[in-house]
Parts: sequence; structure tokens; C-alpha cells
Amino acid sequence: MTEKRPTVLVVEDEPPIAETIVYALKTEGFAPVWHTTGSEALATLRRQSVALVVLDVGLPDMSGFDVCRELRRTHAVPVIFLTARSGEVDKIVGLELGADDYLAKPFSPRELTARIRAVLRRTQASAAPASAPAAVWHHDVERCRIAYRGRALDLTRNEYRLLAVLVAAPGRVFSRDQLMEAAWPDPGAAMDRTVDAHIKLLRGKLRAVAPEADPIVTHRGLGYALREET
Ligand code: CA
Repeated sequence: MTEKRPTVLVVEDEPPIAETIVYALKTEGFAPVWHTTGSEALATLRRQSVALVVLDVGLPDMSGFDVCRELRRTHAVPVIFLTARSGEVDKIVGLELGADDYLAKPFSPRELTARIRAVLRRTQASAAPASAPAAVWHHDVERCRIAYRGRALDLTRNEYRLLAVLVAAPGRVFSRDQLMEAAWPDPGAAMDRTVDAHIKLLRGKLRAVAPEADPIVTHRGLGYALREET
């Protein structure tokens, strides 16, 4: 059985560091793709899907922060930053770029591959297809945020809970009872139509992002499902 090796995009302009990383990734069963500039990396991300990005902060053409910001517009792919100065770490945290981890130079290749595995385990457990280009949905479980087509949604608590259930299983039809149980901690007080009302509000917010898409499907007499996007 041949399992597909996860592609890791390495963006690092210093060849000795990059070569060490690439070698370690190959040894550990990953398929590395190496670029020395941010623009090349972004071009590759537009063409192919990758499992994770290792991103140096100091690049010749643009900063790693800008690369991250740019790719976050369309990708939910996990990012591990490589930093050379401690001030950069503060920035990663402060800018809320959506970095999944960071490593300060110098680091051991072994440490990097361990971090990559940890991030992949975490993101694959919690997220929808983490690396597909322009993933339609991205559910950040830890921050209780859902992004739709690259745009973070501004949701109430109940809307968030409701949508989280649907996003976790695209295509699956949920009855109103199932949705109410999942989304309302005290379902006794809520009427059936509460689900309908919240679905209506959600649809409005999703329409604001993509007017034609209508991703929540009504199954008459059964309930609701999220459209499976392929
Ligand atoms: Ca650098």
C-alpha cells in the first residue's frame, strides 16, 4: 500500500537552512516543495494543494507575515513560522495571522518535523479539508470561529453552534431535533421553529458572502444539510 506523502511547502531564502529542512522532511515521509520567495510560494498555493506551509518571516521579496495574510484570504492551510528574532514572535501572536505554530532559529530539524506532525494531527482532527485551495468552510474549533469562502462569519452563539454541526458533516441531513439538541444547551425551552429562524438568519449571513451559493439545503419533512462541495 502506498500512502500519499503530505506535501509541505517550505518558504526559506537561506539555502543551508532550507536544504536541512528539505532533507529532514524527505526522511520523515513528507514531500517538500521549496521556494525562496513569497511570490513563488503564493503562486504554488494557487496551483496545488499542500498539507502545511513552513514559512520564514524574513524573505527577500515580502515578509512572511504578508505571505500568511495573503494566503489566508483563500486557504485554511496550517502555517508554521520560522523566526530569527524574538520580536518576530511577538508579532506573530500580536497580529493574529492565524499561525498554527512557530520555531525560533536555530532549531533542530527533528524539532520541526515533530511540530509539523503535531499541527497536522490537530488541524486534521478539527477542520474540514485543511489544505484544499479556497476551502469553502474553515472551522477554527479553538477560537469558535467559522470562515466561509475565506471570510470569517460574525455569528451569534446559537448560530455558531448550529452551523458548526452542519459544517462537521457536509451532505448529512440533520433533523430539527438533532440540530436543536446540538445547538441549544437547554433545548426544552426552544420551539421547533427556533431552528428555522436561525437557519434563516444564517442563510442571510452566508448570502452576504456569496449571493448565489445557498449552501444550506432544506430537506422537506426531514431537516437541513450542508451542500457537499466537491
Ligand atoms: Ca530569511
